[in-house]
Amino acid sequence: MFKTIVIGSSNKINVVIRQFSITSARNAQHQSKIVIVGGGSGGCSVAAKFVNALGKNNVTIIEPANKHYYQPLFTLAGGGLKKLSQSHKDMSDVLPKGAQWVQDSVAEFDPKNNTVTTKLGDVFKYEVLLIAVGLQLRYDDIPGLVNALDNYDNVGSIYSPKYVEQTYRAIQTFEKGNIIYTYPNSPVKCPGAPQKICYIHENFLRKMGKRNNANVTYNTSLPVIFGVKVYADALWKVAKSRNINVNLRTCLVEVHPEKNEAVFQNLDKPEQKFTVEYSMLHAVPPMGTPTPLKTNKDLANDMGFLTVDKSTLQHTRYPNIFGIGDCTDSPNSKTAAAVAGQCNVVFKHMRAVLDGKPLSLAYDGYASCPLVTGAGKCILAEFDYNLQPLETFPIRQDREMYIMYLFKKELMPFLYWNLMMRGYWNGPAIVRKLLHLGMKN
Ligand SMILES: Cc1cc2nc3c(=O)[nH]c(=O)nc-3n(C[C@H](O)[C@H](O)[C@H](O)COP(=O)(O)OP(=O)(O)OC[C@H]3O[C@@H](n4cnc5c(N)ncnc54)[C@H](O)[C@@H]3O)c2cc1C
Repeated sequence: MFKTIVIGSSNKINVVIRQFSITSARNAQHQSKIVIVGGGSGGCSVAAKFVNALGKNNVTIIEPANKHYYQPLFTLAGGGLKKLSQSHKDMSDVLPKGAQWVQDSVAEFDPKNNTVTTKLGDVFKYEVLLIAVGLQLRYDDIPGLVNALDNYDNVGSIYSPKYVEQTYRAIQTFEKGNIIYTYPNSPVKCPGAPQKICYIHENFLRKMGKRNNANVTYNTSLPVIFGVKVYADALWKVAKSRNINVNLRTCLVEVHPEKNEAVFQNLDKPEQKFTVEYSMLHAVPPMGTPTPLKTNKDLANDMGFLTVDKSTLQHTRYPNIFGIGDCTDSPNSKTAAAVAGQCNVVFKHMRAVLDGKPLSLAYDGYASCPLVTGAGKCILAEFDYNLQPLETFPIRQDREMYIMYLFKKELMPFLYWNLMMRGYWNGPAIVRKLLHLGMKN
């Protein structure tokens, strides 16, 4: 059943939207002023802003999942510092009530005709579109890894809620031998998480009196331990002081779980592969954008990321399309903190396009990564596009501090659910300005 209502005028023309129910007949045509694809961190925060500003029935969110995850909590849950159940809520309770939620996924983007088509065959025409589809986990790109995760208790991965709890069980039941943590050869969300879990587990083993039984190794495909020098220096010190072996440019390429063997490749000498026996393995999967975006040559670059202007977050070819979060090619670290820094820019610019006004804001690449190094310890990394620190507090943040751990564990989830998902949190820029007496942007 469709009902057509006039909801106001934008610029020159009256805007008509059709209300629909998610149980409507399939293969139908719909029209909405604002369509948002993906109801995760980015999609939900911008949708909430629109509902707050324009009221009901202007926004359609297309999102297939039943649950909305606060993914930063996975790292703590995989280390036994929080429960997985604290990381999610029902999608229907998180998405703004005044938006229309279509529980389906987009199968095709047609930017020339301003439409998207869903898997179930519905077509949505939009005036402005926000693409917020995040990154998919490609565990199956590493032969043997899915079998290892699904069938062996000594293999874990904090990146999927499916494997978070077994990650904690694996470290709890560890007795003796090699523990290996990996970082894949692809862009990843939260590039700090693969090593955070290593530090948290190492600290856990000390507390359990098992540290001397473990040979702990972090194998990363990256050429650096962390992209921002000041924090990289601090992390090298942490790794050295805790006797953690760090191997750069070392990529997990195969797992033989029946033999407890992991095969690695030296990315600088690809012909060199070597096999290591493990007692426990923590694997981070390669990641990429979802197929409908990845394969759309009009919208995406060669790696499948949505091409946007890195300041305005507007698509490089289609002015009525914007991107937010992990799926765009803006060269910031892919984090929820970056989404917070982007959401007001995206919201204001989408409004400007609807109103025929110029784009006036610029996203500076802000991202943050609370590098938890154990229970009660955290280095709060914050930085911009130039990989220069952009710190909120007027103190040195490249040190392990208890207060930063409390922020990560208690304050950030609170901000996420209660402010950001309701459209009221744009990152800490205002706090930073206040704490630096207006001397910092
Ligand atoms: C283990 C881990 C630790 C992390 N730690 C931190 C941290 O400490 N700090 C931090 O700031 N960030 C952290 N992050 C990263 C953060 O969670 C992401 O950067 C953030 O969620 C990105 O938001 P997004 O909206 O781009 O994607 P998501 O929140 O992943 O949402 C994407 C949504 O799009 C939907 N979707 C996908 N395909 C389609 C389709 N075809 N049609 C419709 N919908 C679709 C999905 O179902 C999903 O709901 C962490 C992530 C992980 C996994």
